[in-house]
Amino acid sequence: MTTPQDLHGLDVQAHLHPYTNAAAHADVGPLMIERGDGVHVIDHAGRRYIEGMSGLWCASLGFSHPRLVAAGTQALQTLPYYHTFNHRSNPAVAQLAARLKSLAPVPMARVFFANSGSEANDTAVKMVWYHFNALGLPRKKKILARQRAYHGVTVASASLTGLPANHADFDLPLPRMLHVDCPHHGRGALPGESPEAFATRLAEQLDARIREEGPDTVAAFIAEPVMGAGGVVVPPPTYFEKIQAVLQRHQVLLIADEVICGFGRTGQMWGSQTFGLRPDILTCAKALSSGYVPISAVMVNDRINDTLTANSQRIGSFGHGYTYSGHPVAAAVALETLRVYEDEGIVQRVQALAPGFQAALRGFAERSVVGEVRGVGLIGAIDLVADSITREPYPTAAKAGARLAALAQEEGLIVRAMGDTVALCPPLIISVEELASLFERLHRAFDRFEAAA
Ligand code: PMP
Repeated sequence: MTTPQDLHGLDVQAHLHPYTNAAAHADVGPLMIERGDGVHVIDHAGRRYIEGMSGLWCASLGFSHPRLVAAGTQALQTLPYYHTFNHRSNPAVAQLAARLKSLAPVPMARVFFANSGSEANDTAVKMVWYHFNALGLPRKKKILARQRAYHGVTVASASLTGLPANHADFDLPLPRMLHVDCPHHGRGALPGESPEAFATRLAEQLDARIREEGPDTVAAFIAEPVMGAGGVVVPPPTYFEKIQAVLQRHQVLLIADEVICGFGRTGQMWGSQTFGLRPDILTCAKALSSGYVPISAVMVNDRINDTLTANSQRIGSFGHGYTYSGHPVAAAVALETLRVYEDEGIVQRVQALAPGFQAALRGFAERSVVGEVRGVGLIGAIDLVADSITREPYPTAAKAGARLAALAQEEGLIVRAMGDTVALCPPLIISVEELASLFERLHRAFDRFEAAA
C-alpha cells in the first residue's frame, strides 16, 4: 500500500510543479488533496477546506457535481477519444458549439475548441494574424494587452500576460506584443482623479499609443473584463466604452478573454455583458467545464469567420488545431455543465449572493492591514498593506500575502495570494451558510495575522 509518506516522497522527488518554488518544495512538501465534496476539498489527513478560489478560478459547480461525473463517465464508455480534424466531429462537440453560440454576448459565427485558456488565446492571436494576411494587410499584426493582464503561459499568451514573472528569464514578450496601462483606479489614478476621468485618460493614452505605433500595424486589443490573476482589477465605469471607441476609430479588433469571467462569475453570463464589451473574438475555458476536464473555446464573429473561410478556400485547410480539439469526453462534460447552469439558474444565483458577498468582503476594509477591497459578482480581492492610511506596502520579503493565505489554510479555507493581494472566487453553488463560514474563517486568519504583525 502507498502510505502518505510514500506519496510525499514521490511528489518531492519526481514532480516538477507549476507556479511553485522548485527549491522550496522539498521543505514545504505537497498539500495532497484527495477528494472533493461540494465547495470543500479534503486532504490526505482528512482535513476539510472551503475552496475559496474554486481551485484556479474554475470549479464553479464545486468538486462533486453528480451530473458532470455521470456525463463524463457515460462519454468515456461511449467514445473515449476521437478527433475533429478533416471534417470529423462527434455529437457532443456539435451541440456544444451550437449552445455556446446561442449563449454568446454578441452574435458569433463559429466556435473553435482547445484545451486551456493559454491555447485559446494563442489561437485567437493566430486567427488575428491569419485574418489580416487574408485581407492583404500583412503589416497589421501588433497585439495590445494591458499591464498586469493574465492571458496564459504559452509563448504567445505569456507575451500578452502583463506580469514581470511571466517574462523574466523566458525571453518574453515576443515582438509585436505590447502593453498599455492597467485600469486600476486605486493604484493608477492621479490625486483627485475620478474613475470616469481616469478611464478617459487611459482611452486617450491608448489612442496616442496606436497613433505612435501606426494604426496600420495594430491588429487587436485583448482584455479580461475583470483582470483576475493581476489582482482582481474591476475596470472603472465607462472604461470599455471609451476604449472601444478608440479601437473602432483605428480598426483594431477586440478579443475578450472570458477565461475567468465567463459563465456567471460577474453576475451576468459573461463579463462582456457586465462591462459592455462587444468582442470580435471571445475566449473561454475554466468554468466551461467547471474545471472537471480540460477544455477551452474561441468564438469568432462573422468578420473573422468570413476571412477564415475565404482564405481556407484559397490556400487549403485552416492549418491550426489540437489533437484534443473538441475531445468527446471534454465536450460532453462541458455541454452538461452549460445545462446545469441553466437548470440550476446559476447566473440568478450569483445575482442573489453577490450583494452579501461584496458587503462581507468590504467588511475587511476597516482593518488596519487592509488598503483596498474590490470585486464584483462572486469574485473579489483584499490588498494587504503595512499602513492602511498611507497605503504603504509591506516589504516583499515580509511575504504578507503568503502568510495570510497560510493562516487561512490553517483555519480551513483556501484563498490565493497574488503578491499581497488576497483573492476570493468561490464556487458559484456556495450556500449562504457556507459563505458565512468562509468569511468567519477569513476573519480569524486576519485576526491572527494582525496579532502577529
Ligand atoms: N486567461 C485568463 C484570464 C486566465 O485567468 C487564465 C488562467 N488563470 C488563462 C487565460 C490561462 O489559462 P490556462 O491556465 O488554462 O492556460
